[in-house]
Amino acid sequence: MGTPPNFLPVAEPDLGPLEERFVLEAVRSGWVSSLGEFIDRLEREFAAFCGVEHCVALSNGTVALHVALLARGIGPGDEVIVPDLTFVATAAAVIHAGATPVLVDVDPVSMCIDPELVERAVTPKTKAIIPVHLYGHPAAMDALRDLGRRKGIFVLEDAAEAHGARIGDRRVGSLGDAAAFSFYGNKLLTTGEGGCITTNDGALAKKIRFLKDHAMSPERRYFHPEVGFNYRMTNLQAAIGCAQLSRFDELLARKAAVLSHYREALRGSDIVINPSLPGVESVCWLVTTLLPGSWSAERQARLARRLREAHAIDVRPFFIPVHELPPYKDLRLVQRDASVSAALTARGLCLPSSNRLGRTDIARVASALVTEIAAVGE
Ligand SMILES: *Cc1c(COP(=O)(O)O)cnc(C)c1O
Repeated sequence: MGTPPNFLPVAEPDLGPLEERFVLEAVRSGWVSSLGEFIDRLEREFAAFCGVEHCVALSNGTVALHVALLARGIGPGDEVIVPDLTFVATAAAVIHAGATPVLVDVDPVSMCIDPELVERAVTPKTKAIIPVHLYGHPAAMDALRDLGRRKGIFVLEDAAEAHGARIGDRRVGSLGDAAAFSFYGNKLLTTGEGGCITTNDGALAKKIRFLKDHAMSPERRYFHPEVGFNYRMTNLQAAIGCAQLSRFDELLARKAAVLSHYREALRGSDIVINPSLPGVESVCWLVTTLLPGSWSAERQARLARRLREAHAIDVRPFFIPVHELPPYKDLRLVQRDASVSAALTARGLCLPSSNRLGRTDIARVASALVTEIAAVGE
C-alpha cells in the first residue's frame, strides 16, 4: 500500500496458525453463515471469560450498543448519558435508537466519564448511562452502578476498547447491567468485524437474540411480531474469535510488554503514557500519550506529518470530543469550567502499538518522537 518496509502502523491484528486452522474448519464444515459451532463456542467462552451468564454475538460493536438500548425499550423522548470523549459510535447508537444523547465530560486521568458530572446530568428523562472504558481504562463503575440502582437507570458498558480490563477481580463486561464489545480489526480481540453483548439478564439476552435475527418468533417460523434487524455474526468470524480468545492471555501479555518498553524508552521525558487511576487493572489497547506543553490540532498535524514522512512512523490523534462534531454540536453538554475532553484531545497522541513491535522499534519511535517534538515549533 505504498508504505516503506520499516513502516510502523498504529495498530494491526495479531493473527496466527490457530486462526487459520479454525477458519479452515469453518469453511470445510459448510457452516459459513450465522449458525455453527464456533458461534456457540464464542458466546459460551466469552461469557465465561467476562464472568457473566450470557453473551450474544453480533455483527459489530455499534449495533451491539443499538440493539441493547432497543431491547431495554429505550427510544424517542428518552435521554442517554454518554461521555464527551469517546469514539463517535457510542453517541451515534443512541441516535439510531431514537433517543437523545447527553454529553458528559471526563476525568483528566482515567479519560473516562466523570461520575460526579453524571449525577448532575441526570433528569427524569434519563433512561441509560453508557460509560466507555476508554483506551483500556475501566470507567468508575462502582459509583455509576450505584447511581443506576438508586435511580433505576440502565448502565450499559461500552467495553469496545477494554477486553480483559478489571476492577478488583471482576472483568469489564460484568460491571453494569449489560456491556457492548467490538471485535473490529484494530481491537484487542478481533473477528474482523464483529461485536457482542454480555449480561446476566436472561430476559435482555433473549430479547437481543430475537431482535438481531429479524424479530422472528421462536415458536412460529416467518412470524415477526416486531420489526427486527439482521445483526448476526457469521461462523467464519466467530472462528477467528475463538482462536483469539484461546490466545488472549498471550495477546494481552504482548501488549503489556509493548507498553512497558515504551515506559522504559520514554523515562525521563515529560511525556505521560497510559495514565491510570489506582485500584483498577487497565489493559493497553493503544499506547496513548499526553504530550508536554501546549498543542493545537494544527501543531499536532505537523508533528504527525514529520513522524510519517521522515521516520515512517504512524501516529493517531485522540478522538475529537463529540460536542465538536457537526451532528452533535447542539446536544446538552455537562462539564466544569473548561472542557477536559478538549484539553486531552489537544495533547493526546496514540503511538504504534502493534504486538509485533520489539524493543528496537520502540526505541526508534521514542527517539523520533522526542526529536520531532523539539523540532516542530510552536
Ligand atoms: C470501536 C468502538 C465502537 C464500535 O465498534 P464497531 O465494531 O467498530 O462498530 C464503539 N465504541 C467504542 C468506544 C469503540 O472504540
